Amino acid sequence: MTTMPQSRVHELHQLINQYNHQYYVLDEPTVPDAEYDRLMNELIAIEAKHPELKSIDSPSQKVGGQALKSFSQVTHQLPMLSLDNVFDLADFNAFVKRNKDRLLTSKSLSFCAEPKLDGLAVSLRYEKGMFVQAATRGDGSVGENITQNIRTIKSIPLKLQGVLGKDYPEIVEVRGEVFMPKASFEQLNEQAKKRNEKVFANPRNAAAGSLRQLDSKVTAKRNLAFYAYGLGFVGESITDTEQSTDVLAQYFSNSHYQRLCQIKALGLPMCPEVRLLASEHDCEAFYQDILTKREQLSYEIDGTVLKVDDIALQKKLGFVARAPRWAIAFKFPAQEELTVVEGVEFQVGRTGAITPVARLKPVFVGGVTVSNATLHNQDEINRLGLKVSDTVIIRRAGDVIPQIVSVVLDKRAENATNIVFPATCPVCDSKVAKAEGEAVLRCTAGLFCGAQRKEAIKHFASRKAHDVDGLGDKLVEQLVDEKLISTPVDLFSLTEIQISTMERMGKKSAQNLVNGLIQAKETTLAKFIYGLGIREVGEATAANLAQHFLTLDSLKAADSETLQQVDDVGVIVAKNIVNFFKESHNLTIVEQLADIMSWPEIVAKEAGSLPLEEQTFVLTGTLSQMGRNEAKAALQLLGAKVSGSVSKKTHYLVAGEKAGSKLTKAQDLGVKVLTEEEMLTLLKQHGIDV
Ligand code: NAD
Repeated sequence: MTTMPQSRVHELHQLINQYNHQYYVLDEPTVPDAEYDRLMNELIAIEAKHPELKSIDSPSQKVGGQALKSFSQVTHQLPMLSLDNVFDLADFNAFVKRNKDRLLTSKSLSFCAEPKLDGLAVSLRYEKGMFVQAATRGDGSVGENITQNIRTIKSIPLKLQGVLGKDYPEIVEVRGEVFMPKASFEQLNEQAKKRNEKVFANPRNAAAGSLRQLDSKVTAKRNLAFYAYGLGFVGESITDTEQSTDVLAQYFSNSHYQRLCQIKALGLPMCPEVRLLASEHDCEAFYQDILTKREQLSYEIDGTVLKVDDIALQKKLGFVARAPRWAIAFKFPAQEELTVVEGVEFQVGRTGAITPVARLKPVFVGGVTVSNATLHNQDEINRLGLKVSDTVIIRRAGDVIPQIVSVVLDKRAENATNIVFPATCPVCDSKVAKAEGEAVLRCTAGLFCGAQRKEAIKHFASRKAHDVDGLGDKLVEQLVDEKLISTPVDLFSLTEIQISTMERMGKKSAQNLVNGLIQAKETTLAKFIYGLGIREVGEATAANLAQHFLTLDSLKAADSETLQQVDDVGVIVAKNIVNFFKESHNLTIVEQLADIMSWPEIVAKEAGSLPLEEQTFVLTGTLSQMGRNEAKAALQLLGAKVSGSVSKKTHYLVAGEKAGSKLTKAQDLGVKVLTEEEMLTLLKQHGIDV
């Protein structure tokens, strides 16, 4: 059954008005812009076909916002309008053609080309050069008085530069966009997540929510920015109420672009990407250029705005109900779309982390078709309040992996079901556990778990562990897929013939691998421990464990407390080690490996026999004269312990170039910091010349 246009128009009015309220008044949109734009375009199309259905209260005829009653209100002397938009070149060309027809010209038009900033429009009023009032757009005629909040934005001058009467008249209204830089937005949401507070859907809503605060102290904390993109009312005397073209012409250029430069000269920020284009034919290249730069820009944009540059022509073209005819938003393809979560699967990763992944109804967003999105962990699912069958907003921006932004509760299906985490590992059925203070659920089976197998074998064979010559990642995958190996133990019973049946493996490379495995059998206890791939046991910790326990058996038998006596080992690492050796599959593999492999006995060093004994070092930053591994080995040769993290137990931090948080932490804890040169001198003093 097809819906009658009249009832569809009614439905569209209701939906668009509801979405307008959520977006403009509550700063909390529930559907992506793409969905809103589709509904609005559908309404415009029906109204074009059935003009009798176009009423003056249609959302297509109005600027979408509304001033909140909690603010005092400002009536704009000149209306603040919206922009019409296009999404492709054909529609942009149609816009140009319409304007040329209206101007009765076939000559090229020059354009002021600007990024479409994703924030909210404000009008700033300067009287005799002093900032006196700021207002939001509201419904285009009446906005909210946000003067106090605007005062907290550092880049907005409280006084204009230049000379009153020469460079600017008594009243100057500057219009532009207040926005929140991407980094500040991410930081704000991170903090909100930590405090279990509301997160903002996007920087636009974060900017709007931050600016429309009754307490300007809150706004002050939000790091907002501003770019000017036009003039509002301009008057010779502060009592002027009618816009005089003469006053505008006396003080300001007849080019929109030049006006922006003049506004900049008055001290207001102007977006550095704004360009003057000689003709409409340059607009597409500008659009493509900005689209390419989009990810690198420090602020969010959702398209470009192309404005006929000649003010006289702008005047001739005039306005329609809610937007000027002389400007158009040429928008980028949507980065947010609606889709449905059809199911949730649980994947087991390299370290056993069990990650819920939403299977989505495929949707085209951010330039690709997306059919999965990670849900990270239980906390994230709780935060989203997500159920299977829910309609969600999915976001894919640039190269960032697709993310579910929010659930559209209005569209929740009756049969929506809760997401339940598996009680055992979905791959190997072993126990799953959540470490204290961690949100991630993990399979505890380690090497036994099929999903972790490939990664565990790759780790075992890696350069820093047993450095098995000829065993690359691809080959490990093939060998596991062909079921020739399932644990590192199996590596040692591989035959040349078996290996040579693998892709791209000739007799020679098979021989090399077998030789490589024979060599790998001779190892050190430290490498053996590291090669097991216990969570958070890196090379340095493995070396410290070997030095402390001397034998594999005493390490296996150690309890959490004993483990924590080792430098570098805290509660979490100790727990990981205990859990690892508790799992019987792991023990079997460890014992089998220990039978096959061998290492020299470690003799307990007599205290004081080595010059840097009992001294713990941490290396950070880039060392220019020797690699970090080399430096570590040299320090260890002198008896030093080299740890991966700074703590109160650390004696020295060696800080190379670009040292970051470890350096700060060492300084906070009063740990002695050595430069690379100082470390080299120390090594030299003890006979190690690098
Ligand atoms: P708009 O955002 O499409 O365009 C007009 C606005 O663009 C101006 O008011 C100004 O704030 C801004 N702008 C940014 N850079 C500019 C520049 N260089 N020059 C001039 N203006 C610039 O229009 P709108 O009326 O504010 O909002 C409509 C759009 O908002 C919709 O297309 C949709 O994307 C979104 N919206 C979404 C929902 C939702 O529920 N998701 C609801 C309402 C509106």
